[in-house]
Amino acid sequence: MYVSTRGAAAKLTAAQAIAQGIAPDGGLFVPEAIPSIDGQFLTSLLPLTYQERATAILRLFLTDYTEVELTECVAGAYGGGKFSNTAVAPVAKVADGIFALELWHGPTSAFKDMALQLLPRLLVCALKKIGEQAEIVILVATSGDTGKAALEGFKDVEQTRVIVFYPEDGVSQIQRLQMVTQEGDNLRVIAVKGNFDDAQTGVKQIFSDNDYNAELAEHGFKLSSANSINWGRLVPQIVYYFSAYADLVKEKHITAGTFVNFVVPTGNFGNILAGYYAKLMGLPINKLICASNSNNVLTDFLTTGIYSRNRQFHKTYSPSMDILISSNLERLLYHITGGNSAQVSQWMTELNTTGQYKIADEYLTAIQAVFPAAWVSDEATSATIGQVHKEYGYPLDPHTAVAWQVAENYQRQSGDTTPAVIVSTASPFKFNETVLAALTDSNSLRDKTEFVVLQDLAQIIGIPVPLALAELEGKSVRHTAVCEKQDMPAVVKAQLRVK
Ligand SMILES: *Cc1c(COP(=O)(O)O)cnc(C)c1O
Repeated sequence: MYVSTRGAAAKLTAAQAIAQGIAPDGGLFVPEAIPSIDGQFLTSLLPLTYQERATAILRLFLTDYTEVELTECVAGAYGGGKFSNTAVAPVAKVADGIFALELWHGPTSAFKDMALQLLPRLLVCALKKIGEQAEIVILVATSGDTGKAALEGFKDVEQTRVIVFYPEDGVSQIQRLQMVTQEGDNLRVIAVKGNFDDAQTGVKQIFSDNDYNAELAEHGFKLSSANSINWGRLVPQIVYYFSAYADLVKEKHITAGTFVNFVVPTGNFGNILAGYYAKLMGLPINKLICASNSNNVLTDFLTTGIYSRNRQFHKTYSPSMDILISSNLERLLYHITGGNSAQVSQWMTELNTTGQYKIADEYLTAIQAVFPAAWVSDEATSATIGQVHKEYGYPLDPHTAVAWQVAENYQRQSGDTTPAVIVSTASPFKFNETVLAALTDSNSLRDKTEFVVLQDLAQIIGIPVPLALAELEGKSVRHTAVCEKQDMPAVVKAQLRVK
């Protein structure tokens, strides 16, 4: 069963929690008990496909789904050629003891596909299981990658609509084009005048407004979320930590039982938290290293125990990590405090009212034992893209480059020689301007369209442009709406024709 991190909501089944998204008390759903695995379970994963591994992990959490339901959901998400690499999430050896877990072979070239190809299937299945008749309206606040991945995942999915809000000036050209050209009758895309946190705050306010939700319900609509606050978004991400480990053993890079570190470029804390669940389940993970850009709120928190959003927001080369409020940290706090929902609620109230909270030293020490943290500047990110390509011939996107640099700094400072898996979250083509400038010089961008930049990059790294990105050139813009952040509730109503 699933409980709210804030303790004031009823226990739900996985299907109910996935259909609901966020708990009615404002908290996030977490599993009441974490399943554990043993060495034999790990060994059993080695010969399996990614899809089979996914079913094996998901069934431990989604206990109210049947085996057939899970198998079908997984086959629809990861099979049928949707991922350009048959391994789905392959592990590349880049250097001695350094591996890249490539999570960007899906339809939108970023790791959000790993979860958002599966979530809609889990959700539709959940609606059937609980007999929900309402049309589900998925509200998404996106810093770029989630929006497109949600649109692709929910395109023409029965009984669902998606409204995506993205910060008008906070996404890359390619990210914007991917979203505004989106086809599908159940999908809307709207630019917000503000940054990602404004969009996310707006969406959260809509979710927690009871009167507003009651009004939508009268018209047959029910809101839900595709952001990583939804358990159905988080649980698919646990799978690739296991799959990566199984591949490392299978390819004889490590022996079974050897501990590894994962280095995760982090924004909303969803990806790295999935790694934490894998560790709690018994996967041999030593450290989960939290890598940030100059929006270094998590680095500060993990160093001092003070979470403070009262700081300047920076636009960086790694926009999917330009975040000041990392929602999923709430789940970590819940587990670290042994499920002390009163304490978690208090911190979240403080965050809402004063913009900050401080955790006790005992909790900080427990968190620090697992999560070393550091951040890198845009300049260092560019330099890393250049160096890693030169030294190893491996092209990094800016998010992955942040993680790479943090991994190097961590290894140097700590002397920790544990094998490191860099979690690679985007294709270099998705952030092609930053990557091309890093591999050549900033003049290389002058007067070039995004599509010429894509082709230039393909030439330099010797990899063809992903088809879905190349095809954007011929697509027409279908979504042009822009709104003020305070108008988001009205915009949602207008889209649903609710007066
Ligand atoms: C979303 C995203 C991240 C951050 O992941 P979180 O789960 O939000 O921490 C990092 N890199 C890329 C490319 C992303 O799209």
